[in-house]
Amino acid sequence: MFDHPSFDGHQGVHMFHDAESGLRAIIAVHSTALGPAAGGCRMWNYETGEQALRDALRLSKGMSFKNAMAGLPLGGGKGVIWGNSKADKSEKLFEAFGRAVESLNGAYYTAEDVGINTSDMEIVATQTKYVAGLDSGDAASGDPSPITALGVYRGIKASAARVFGTDDLSDRSIAVQGVGHVGGYLCDHLAKDGARIIATDIDEAALNEVCKRIGATAVKTDEIYDQHVDIFSPNALGAIINPETLPRLKARIIAGGANNQLSIPEMDAAVREKGILYAPDYVINGGGIINVAAEISGQYSRDWVMGKLDVLISTLGEVLDQALSTDAPTNQVAEQMARARIAAA
Ligand code: NAD
Repeated sequence: MFDHPSFDGHQGVHMFHDAESGLRAIIAVHSTALGPAAGGCRMWNYETGEQALRDALRLSKGMSFKNAMAGLPLGGGKGVIWGNSKADKSEKLFEAFGRAVESLNGAYYTAEDVGINTSDMEIVATQTKYVAGLDSGDAASGDPSPITALGVYRGIKASAARVFGTDDLSDRSIAVQGVGHVGGYLCDHLAKDGARIIATDIDEAALNEVCKRIGATAVKTDEIYDQHVDIFSPNALGAIINPETLPRLKARIIAGGANNQLSIPEMDAAVREKGILYAPDYVINGGGIINVAAEISGQYSRDWVMGKLDVLISTLGEVLDQALSTDAPTNQVAEQMARARIAAA
Protein backbone atom coordinates (compact mmCIF):
# COMPACT_ATOMS: atom_id res chain seq x y z
CA MET A 1 0.00 0.00 0.00
CA PHE A 2 2.83 2.44 0.78
CA ASP A 3 3.95 2.16 -2.86
CA HIS A 4 0.45 2.62 -4.24
CA PRO A 5 0.29 5.58 -6.68
CA SER A 6 -2.73 6.98 -4.80
CA PHE A 7 -1.05 6.81 -1.36
CA ASP A 8 -0.58 10.37 -0.06
CA GLY A 9 0.82 9.94 3.44
CA HIS A 10 -2.53 8.64 4.68
CA GLN A 11 -2.68 8.50 8.46
CA GLY A 12 -4.32 5.07 8.50
CA VAL A 13 -5.87 2.62 6.06
CA HIS A 14 -8.02 -0.04 7.67
CA MET A 15 -9.31 -3.25 6.05
CA PHE A 16 -12.34 -5.03 7.52
CA HIS A 17 -13.80 -8.46 6.84
CA ASP A 18 -16.84 -10.08 8.42
CA ALA A 19 -17.34 -13.73 7.54
CA GLU A 20 -20.98 -13.92 8.59
CA SER A 21 -22.28 -11.00 6.50
CA GLY A 22 -19.62 -11.14 3.78
CA LEU A 23 -18.55 -7.56 4.51
CA ARG A 24 -15.37 -6.49 2.77
CA ALA A 25 -14.68 -2.85 3.56
CA ILE A 26 -11.87 -0.33 3.64
CA ILE A 27 -11.83 2.80 5.76
CA ALA A 28 -9.07 5.21 4.77
CA VAL A 29 -8.23 8.07 7.14
CA HIS A 30 -6.18 10.60 5.20
CA SER A 31 -5.77 13.25 7.90
CA THR A 32 -7.21 14.26 11.26
CA ALA A 33 -5.21 17.51 11.50
CA LEU A 34 -8.32 19.70 11.30
CA GLY A 35 -10.54 17.34 13.31
CA PRO A 36 -11.99 13.83 13.13
CA ALA A 37 -11.96 12.45 9.59
CA ALA A 38 -15.36 12.61 7.93
CA GLY A 39 -16.56 11.33 4.60
CA GLY A 40 -19.27 9.12 3.19
CA CYS A 41 -19.25 5.40 2.62
CA ARG A 42 -19.52 4.09 -0.95
CA MET A 43 -20.80 0.66 -1.93
CA TRP A 44 -19.57 -0.44 -5.33
CA ASN A 45 -19.00 -3.69 -7.18
CA TYR A 46 -15.28 -3.26 -7.84
CA GLU A 47 -13.61 -5.80 -10.10
CA THR A 48 -10.60 -6.12 -7.79
CA GLY A 49 -9.61 -5.28 -4.24
CA GLU A 50 -6.93 -3.02 -5.65
CA GLN A 51 -9.65 -0.89 -7.29
CA ALA A 52 -11.44 -0.62 -3.95
CA LEU A 53 -8.20 0.44 -2.24
CA ARG A 54 -7.50 3.01 -4.95
CA ASP A 55 -10.95 4.50 -4.52
CA ALA A 56 -10.58 4.64 -0.72
CA LEU A 57 -7.17 6.33 -0.96
CA ARG A 58 -8.25 8.89 -3.56
CA LEU A 59 -11.63 9.65 -2.01
CA SER A 60 -10.26 10.09 1.52
CA LYS A 61 -7.60 12.53 0.31
CA GLY A 62 -10.33 14.39 -1.55
CA MET A 63 -12.30 14.60 1.70
CA SER A 64 -9.33 16.20 3.51
CA PHE A 65 -9.20 18.87 0.82
CA LYS A 66 -12.99 19.21 0.68
CA ASN A 67 -13.38 19.67 4.44
CA ALA A 68 -10.49 22.14 4.53
CA MET A 69 -11.94 24.18 1.66
CA ALA A 70 -15.38 24.18 3.26
CA GLY A 71 -13.80 25.64 6.43
CA LEU A 72 -14.95 22.73 8.59
CA PRO A 73 -13.26 21.40 11.76
CA LEU A 74 -13.00 17.98 10.12
CA GLY A 75 -10.26 15.87 8.58
CA GLY A 76 -10.59 13.56 5.58
CA GLY A 77 -11.67 9.94 5.47
CA LYS A 78 -13.78 7.61 3.38
CA GLY A 79 -15.32 4.16 3.65
CA VAL A 80 -15.81 1.77 0.76
CA ILE A 81 -17.80 -1.44 0.88
CA TRP A 82 -16.88 -3.88 -1.87
CA GLY A 83 -20.20 -5.32 -3.07
CA ASN A 84 -23.24 -4.91 -5.26
CA SER A 85 -25.54 -2.31 -3.69
CA LYS A 86 -28.55 -3.79 -5.49
CA ALA A 87 -27.93 -7.42 -4.45
CA ASP A 88 -25.56 -7.69 -1.48
CA LYS A 89 -27.11 -5.43 1.17
CA SER A 90 -28.25 -6.91 4.47
CA GLU A 91 -28.82 -5.78 8.03
CA LYS A 92 -25.85 -7.88 9.17
CA LEU A 93 -23.58 -6.25 6.57
CA PHE A 94 -24.32 -2.73 7.82
CA GLU A 95 -24.11 -3.84 11.45
CA ALA A 96 -20.63 -5.21 10.69
CA PHE A 97 -19.70 -1.94 8.97
CA GLY A 98 -21.00 -0.04 12.02
CA ARG A 99 -18.73 -2.12 14.28
CA ALA A 100 -15.81 -1.37 11.96
CA VAL A 101 -16.47 2.38 12.24
CA GLU A 102 -16.86 2.09 16.02
CA SER A 103 -13.51 0.28 16.31
CA LEU A 104 -11.76 3.45 15.10
CA ASN A 105 -12.95 5.28 18.24
CA GLY A 106 -14.10 8.47 16.53
CA ALA A 107 -11.15 8.92 14.17
CA TYR A 108 -13.69 8.53 11.32
CA TYR A 109 -17.33 9.65 10.93
CA THR A 110 -19.29 7.93 8.18
CA ALA A 111 -22.34 8.98 6.09
CA GLU A 112 -23.97 8.14 2.74
CA ASP A 113 -22.21 8.10 -0.62
CA VAL A 114 -22.91 6.28 -3.90
CA GLY A 115 -24.88 3.08 -3.33
CA ILE A 116 -25.77 3.86 0.30
CA ASN A 117 -28.99 5.38 1.60
CA THR A 118 -30.25 6.76 4.90
CA SER A 119 -31.87 3.47 5.98
CA ASP A 120 -28.48 1.72 5.59
CA MET A 121 -26.95 4.38 7.84
CA GLU A 122 -29.73 3.90 10.41
CA ILE A 123 -28.50 0.28 10.76
CA VAL A 124 -24.87 1.46 11.03
CA ALA A 125 -26.03 3.81 13.82
CA THR A 126 -27.15 0.85 15.93
CA GLN A 127 -23.46 -0.04 16.33
CA THR A 128 -21.69 3.32 16.46
CA LYS A 129 -22.32 6.97 17.24
CA TYR A 130 -19.76 8.06 14.65
CA VAL A 131 -22.32 8.30 11.86
CA ALA A 132 -24.22 11.15 10.21
CA GLY A 133 -26.71 11.64 7.43
CA LEU A 134 -29.48 10.09 9.53
CA ASP A 135 -33.23 10.62 9.23
CA SER A 136 -33.88 10.45 12.97
CA GLY A 137 -32.24 11.74 16.15
CA ASP A 138 -31.82 15.18 17.72
CA ALA A 139 -29.45 16.63 15.11
CA ALA A 140 -30.47 14.45 12.13
CA SER A 141 -29.64 16.14 8.83
CA GLY A 142 -31.05 13.45 6.51
CA ASP A 143 -29.95 13.04 2.91
CA PRO A 144 -27.14 15.55 2.17
CA SER A 145 -27.65 15.51 -1.61
CA PRO A 146 -30.16 18.40 -1.87
CA ILE A 147 -27.56 20.70 -0.26
CA THR A 148 -24.79 19.23 -2.42
CA ALA A 149 -26.93 19.90 -5.49
CA LEU A 150 -27.69 23.47 -4.36
CA GLY A 151 -23.95 24.11 -3.95
CA VAL A 152 -23.22 22.64 -7.38
CA TYR A 153 -25.96 24.78 -8.93
CA ARG A 154 -24.55 27.93 -7.30
CA GLY A 155 -21.03 26.86 -8.33
CA ILE A 156 -22.20 26.49 -11.94
CA LYS A 157 -23.55 30.03 -11.80
CA ALA A 158 -20.29 31.33 -10.28
CA SER A 159 -18.34 29.60 -13.09
CA ALA A 160 -20.72 30.95 -15.76
CA ALA A 161 -20.28 34.49 -14.42
CA ARG A 162 -16.53 34.18 -15.00
CA VAL A 163 -16.68 32.59 -18.45
CA PHE A 164 -19.77 34.19 -20.01
CA GLY A 165 -19.85 37.45 -18.03
CA THR A 166 -23.29 36.57 -16.60
CA ASP A 167 -24.61 33.91 -14.26
CA ASP A 168 -27.95 33.83 -16.05
CA LEU A 169 -28.47 30.23 -17.17
CA SER A 170 -31.63 30.77 -19.22
CA ASP A 171 -29.70 30.76 -22.50
CA ARG A 172 -27.28 28.02 -21.49
CA SER A 173 -27.14 24.41 -22.59
CA ILE A 174 -25.92 21.94 -19.99
CA ALA A 175 -24.98 18.26 -20.33
CA VAL A 176 -25.70 16.44 -17.08
CA GLN A 177 -24.04 13.06 -16.55
CA GLY A 178 -25.87 11.10 -13.85
CA VAL A 179 -29.35 11.97 -12.58
CA GLY A 180 -29.17 10.19 -9.21
CA HIS A 181 -29.49 12.01 -5.90
CA VAL A 182 -27.28 14.99 -6.72
CA GLY A 183 -27.87 15.10 -10.49
CA GLY A 184 -31.63 14.85 -10.07
CA TYR A 185 -31.92 17.80 -7.66
CA LEU A 186 -29.43 19.75 -9.76
CA CYS A 187 -31.56 19.26 -12.88
CA ASP A 188 -34.53 20.75 -11.03
CA HIS A 189 -32.56 23.92 -10.19
CA LEU A 190 -31.21 24.25 -13.73
CA ALA A 191 -34.62 23.65 -15.31
CA LYS A 192 -36.18 26.32 -13.08
CA ASP A 193 -33.66 28.80 -14.53
CA GLY A 194 -34.68 27.81 -18.05
CA ALA A 195 -31.44 26.06 -19.01
CA ARG A 196 -31.56 23.55 -21.89
CA ILE A 197 -30.61 20.21 -20.35
CA ILE A 198 -29.25 17.11 -22.04
CA ALA A 199 -28.98 14.24 -19.59
CA THR A 200 -27.75 10.69 -19.37
CA ASP A 201 -27.68 7.85 -16.85
CA ILE A 202 -27.05 4.11 -16.96
CA ASP A 203 -30.32 3.76 -15.03
CA GLU A 204 -32.82 4.25 -17.87
CA ALA A 205 -35.87 4.40 -15.62
CA ALA A 206 -34.34 7.20 -13.50
CA LEU A 207 -33.22 9.02 -16.65
CA ASN A 208 -36.67 8.87 -18.26
CA GLU A 209 -38.32 10.01 -15.05
CA VAL A 210 -36.07 13.09 -14.70
CA CYS A 211 -36.29 13.98 -18.40
CA LYS A 212 -40.06 13.81 -18.30
CA ARG A 213 -40.20 15.88 -15.11
CA ILE A 214 -38.06 18.74 -16.37
CA GLY A 215 -38.40 18.43 -20.14
CA ALA A 216 -34.76 17.42 -20.75
CA THR A 217 -33.36 15.47 -23.69
CA ALA A 218 -32.01 12.00 -22.90
CA VAL A 219 -28.88 10.66 -24.64
CA LYS A 220 -26.98 7.38 -24.41
CA THR A 221 -24.27 7.30 -21.73
CA ASP A 222 -21.33 7.55 -24.12
CA GLU A 223 -22.92 10.32 -26.21
CA ILE A 224 -22.87 12.81 -23.33
CA TYR A 225 -19.24 13.78 -24.12
CA ASP A 226 -20.08 14.80 -27.72
CA GLN A 227 -22.86 17.28 -26.99
CA HIS A 228 -22.53 20.86 -28.22
CA VAL A 229 -23.21 22.49 -24.87
CA ASP A 230 -21.91 25.42 -22.80
CA ILE A 231 -21.46 23.43 -19.61
CA PHE A 232 -20.61 19.81 -18.85
CA SER A 233 -21.78 18.69 -15.40
CA PRO A 234 -20.53 15.28 -14.19
CA ASN A 235 -22.68 13.89 -11.36
CA ALA A 236 -22.05 10.17 -11.58
CA LEU A 237 -18.66 8.57 -10.95
CA GLY A 238 -15.04 9.68 -11.05
CA ALA A 239 -12.24 9.70 -13.66
CA ILE A 240 -14.58 10.80 -16.46
CA ILE A 241 -12.30 13.69 -17.50
CA ASN A 242 -9.56 11.65 -19.13
CA PRO A 243 -7.41 11.62 -22.29
CA GLU A 244 -10.20 9.86 -24.23
CA THR A 245 -13.10 12.12 -23.21
CA LEU A 246 -11.43 15.56 -23.02
CA PRO A 247 -10.86 15.92 -26.82
CA ARG A 248 -14.58 15.22 -27.32
CA LEU A 249 -15.87 17.92 -24.93
CA LYS A 250 -17.15 21.16 -26.46
CA ALA A 251 -18.22 22.85 -23.23
CA ARG A 252 -16.42 25.93 -21.83
CA ILE A 253 -17.09 24.92 -18.24
CA ILE A 254 -16.85 21.62 -16.35
CA ALA A 255 -18.78 21.88 -13.09
CA GLY A 256 -20.51 19.01 -11.37
CA GLY A 257 -20.90 17.13 -8.12
CA ALA A 258 -19.02 13.89 -8.86
CA ASN A 259 -15.92 13.18 -6.79
CA ASN A 260 -12.50 12.73 -8.42
CA GLN A 261 -13.51 13.85 -11.88
CA LEU A 262 -9.95 14.10 -13.24
CA SER A 263 -8.56 10.64 -14.11
CA ILE A 264 -4.95 11.74 -13.65
CA PRO A 265 -3.45 14.93 -12.18
CA GLU A 266 -2.22 15.98 -15.65
CA MET A 267 -5.83 16.48 -16.79
CA ASP A 268 -5.93 19.66 -14.69
CA ALA A 269 -3.48 21.45 -17.01
CA ALA A 270 -4.94 19.75 -20.10
CA VAL A 271 -8.40 21.13 -19.30
CA ARG A 272 -7.01 24.64 -18.90
CA GLU A 273 -5.05 24.35 -22.16
CA LYS A 274 -8.27 23.45 -23.94
CA GLY A 275 -9.76 26.71 -22.65
CA ILE A 276 -12.20 25.04 -20.28
CA LEU A 277 -12.80 26.43 -16.78
CA TYR A 278 -12.96 23.49 -14.36
CA ALA A 279 -14.66 24.00 -11.00
CA PRO A 280 -12.60 21.69 -8.71
CA ASP A 281 -14.90 18.86 -7.61
CA TYR A 282 -14.02 18.90 -3.93
CA VAL A 283 -14.81 22.60 -3.70
CA ILE A 284 -18.04 22.76 -5.71
CA ASN A 285 -19.52 19.61 -4.12
CA GLY A 286 -18.78 20.58 -0.49
CA GLY A 287 -22.43 21.36 0.35
CA GLY A 288 -23.20 17.81 1.43
CA ILE A 289 -20.35 17.60 3.92
CA ILE A 290 -21.35 21.00 5.34
CA ASN A 291 -24.80 19.51 5.99
CA VAL A 292 -23.20 16.42 7.56
CA ALA A 293 -20.86 18.62 9.67
CA ALA A 294 -23.88 20.38 11.14
CA GLU A 295 -25.16 17.00 12.29
CA ILE A 296 -21.77 15.91 13.67
CA SER A 297 -21.63 19.12 15.73
CA GLY A 298 -24.72 17.85 17.53
CA GLN A 299 -26.88 20.90 16.75
CA TYR A 300 -28.25 20.93 13.22
CA SER A 301 -29.07 24.44 12.06
CA ARG A 302 -30.25 25.25 8.52
CA ASP A 303 -29.02 28.86 8.92
CA TRP A 304 -25.52 27.66 9.83
CA VAL A 305 -25.51 25.37 6.78
CA MET A 306 -26.61 28.16 4.44
CA GLY A 307 -23.99 30.52 5.91
CA LYS A 308 -21.24 27.95 5.32
CA LEU A 309 -22.54 27.37 1.79
CA ASP A 310 -22.20 31.11 1.06
CA VAL A 311 -18.57 30.98 2.27
CA LEU A 312 -17.94 27.87 0.14
CA ILE A 313 -19.18 29.58 -3.02
CA SER A 314 -16.96 32.61 -2.25
CA THR A 315 -14.00 30.26 -1.77
CA LEU A 316 -14.78 28.64 -5.15
CA GLY A 317 -14.84 32.13 -6.65
CA GLU A 318 -11.42 32.86 -5.09
CA VAL A 319 -10.00 29.66 -6.61
CA LEU A 320 -11.40 30.42 -10.07
CA ASP A 321 -10.27 34.06 -9.98
CA GLN A 322 -6.76 33.18 -8.80
CA ALA A 323 -6.46 30.50 -11.48
CA LEU A 324 -7.69 32.85 -14.22
CA SER A 325 -5.46 35.75 -13.12
CA THR A 326 -2.31 33.61 -12.78
CA ASP A 327 -3.11 31.33 -15.74
CA ALA A 328 -2.82 28.31 -13.43
CA PRO A 329 -4.94 25.14 -13.50
CA THR A 330 -7.85 25.42 -11.06
CA ASN A 331 -7.26 22.14 -9.24
CA GLN A 332 -3.66 23.11 -8.55
CA VAL A 333 -4.78 26.42 -7.03
CA ALA A 334 -7.41 24.68 -4.88
CA GLU A 335 -4.99 22.00 -3.72
CA GLN A 336 -2.41 24.58 -2.67
CA MET A 337 -5.08 26.41 -0.69
CA ALA A 338 -6.34 23.20 0.95
CA ARG A 339 -2.85 21.90 1.83
CA ALA A 340 -1.96 25.30 3.34
CA ARG A 341 -5.07 25.16 5.56
CA ILE A 342 -4.25 21.59 6.71
CA ALA A 343 -0.57 22.43 7.30
CA ALA A 344 -1.56 25.50 9.35
CA ALA A 345 -3.67 23.25 11.58
P1 NAD B 1 -26.29 8.28 -6.84
O1 NAD B 1 -25.91 6.86 -6.78
O2 NAD B 1 -27.62 8.69 -6.28
O3 NAD B 1 -26.27 8.79 -8.35
C1 NAD B 1 -25.28 8.45 -9.27
C2 NAD B 1 -25.99 8.26 -10.59
O4 NAD B 1 -25.02 8.07 -11.61
C3 NAD B 1 -26.89 7.02 -10.61
O5 NAD B 1 -28.18 7.39 -11.09
C4 NAD B 1 -26.18 6.07 -11.56
O6 NAD B 1 -27.07 5.23 -12.27
C5 NAD B 1 -25.47 7.04 -12.47
N1 NAD B 1 -24.31 6.49 -13.20
C6 NAD B 1 -23.38 5.58 -12.80
N2 NAD B 1 -22.49 5.36 -13.78
C7 NAD B 1 -22.86 6.14 -14.82
C8 NAD B 1 -22.33 6.35 -16.11
N3 NAD B 1 -21.25 5.72 -16.53
N4 NAD B 1 -22.95 7.25 -16.92
C9 NAD B 1 -24.05 7.91 -16.50
N5 NAD B 1 -24.60 7.74 -15.28
C10 NAD B 1 -24.01 6.87 -14.46
O7 NAD B 1 -25.11 9.12 -6.16
P2 NAD B 1 -25.11 10.64 -5.74
O8 NAD B 1 -25.27 10.71 -4.29
O9 NAD B 1 -26.01 11.43 -6.61
O10 NAD B 1 -23.60 11.03 -6.06
C11 NAD B 1 -23.17 11.35 -7.37
C12 NAD B 1 -21.71 11.80 -7.33
O11 NAD B 1 -21.59 12.94 -6.50
C13 NAD B 1 -20.72 10.76 -6.77
O12 NAD B 1 -19.49 10.89 -7.43
C14 NAD B 1 -20.60 11.18 -5.32
O13 NAD B 1 -19.39 10.72 -4.77
C15 NAD B 1 -20.63 12.66 -5.47
N6 NAD B 1 -21.05 13.37 -4.27
C16 NAD B 1 -22.25 13.14 -3.70
C17 NAD B 1 -22.65 13.86 -2.57
C18 NAD B 1 -24.01 13.68 -1.96
O14 NAD B 1 -24.40 14.53 -1.14
N7 NAD B 1 -24.75 12.66 -2.33
C19 NAD B 1 -21.78 14.80 -2.02
C20 NAD B 1 -20.57 15.04 -2.63
C21 NAD B 1 -20.20 14.32 -3.76
